[in-house]
Amino acid sequence: MARLELDKVRKVFTDDDGSDIVAVDDVTVDIEDGEFLVLVGPSGCGKSTTLRMVAGLESVTAGDIRLGGRSIVGKKPQNRDIAMVFQSYALYPHMTTRENMSFGLEESTDLSDEEIAERVENAADLLSIPELLDRKPSELSGGQQQRVALGRAIVREPEVFLMDEPLSNLDAKLRSQMRTELQRIQEDLGTTTMYVTHDQTEAMTMGDRIAVLDGGELQQAGTPLECYHRPANKFVAGFIGEPAMNFFDGTVEGDTFVADRFEYRLTDEQREAVAGADGVTLGVRPEDVEVTVGATAADNREFETVVDVVEPMGNENAVYLGFESDPTDPFVATVGGMRQIDGGEHVVARFPEDAIHLFDAASGEALH
Ligand code: ATP
Repeated sequence: MARLELDKVRKVFTDDDGSDIVAVDDVTVDIEDGEFLVLVGPSGCGKSTTLRMVAGLESVTAGDIRLGGRSIVGKKPQNRDIAMVFQSYALYPHMTTRENMSFGLEESTDLSDEEIAERVENAADLLSIPELLDRKPSELSGGQQQRVALGRAIVREPEVFLMDEPLSNLDAKLRSQMRTELQRIQEDLGTTTMYVTHDQTEAMTMGDRIAVLDGGELQQAGTPLECYHRPANKFVAGFIGEPAMNFFDGTVEGDTFVADRFEYRLTDEQREAVAGADGVTLGVRPEDVEVTVGATAADNREFETVVDVVEPMGNENAVYLGFESDPTDPFVATVGGMRQIDGGEHVVARFPEDAIHLFDAASGEALH
């Protein structure tokens, strides 16, 4: 069983003037046998360092990493039964596809030539590149080179795949095609996979589960839908979803959330959840804001607003709305693209009660 466990894994680098940089701060996460886990977070949050510690390319300052229940800390990379795919394909330019894929096996296993040839052919079939086996990297497109890089990992038949932004050098169309294909291949092979990206769309569409990192700390691990619907904190709420969730800071007075520019009536349940918090941040996703043209606000979950800017996003528009009372610092709503809305138009925006997220303003922790 190739269950991968990261147990309070920590990495501290020392910079030139001797001060510590905590790159990975006690991260604990399990990846089940056959699971596809995406490690996602902004630049510098510690994703690559985490992956490199699992690969054995970086030492661990503290904590343990176990594969199939056994610690792999201290093992050499080549003895970990793990194959890594990098952002740069790192193919040998003078070798053909076939040679690039077989090279590692010839070096590190005692498989026969026939067995190696068979693995290479099988991987080439899986990746739909059998006709490219005798070409050199310079005769391949970026997407094809990426397949060869994957092929090189697949032929090793490892317990775990580690992938560090493997699609980021591809153009948008190829990237979305390869996303689906990578998922299919991973599912066919059933290989436990840890995949690093800074792209939340990639994380949401590819991961069985995602682990969101910020500042070296694990913020939340869950299915994409759990992280989207029940973010553990304001960071995850703002990181997952495009356009990002709108946030408003305020306080709670009785059953009402009071912000600078509006007041919002909370349900009993919401009021209980925020009891005791000094400051509260109210969050609402752009896609949850209901926009009605030519109406007046009927209750205090609705607001009279004026359209600032409309950004077309294909089948939807991102509509920036300012409160009538103070139109500075607009928030955003997504509205179906068929509906014609123009700048300067007066519309009513409703924040439905079941779409509201509430966070402790100081800690950012989700309260409801
Ligand atoms: P990106 O998406 O930009 O690749 P990342 O999430 O993968 O970022 P890491 O590369 O893991 O982030 O870096 C995490 C932190 O550790 C950063 O602050 C980085 O500057 C620091 N760091 C990484 N490698 C070293 C090193 N060899 N020496 C010192 N600091 C390092």
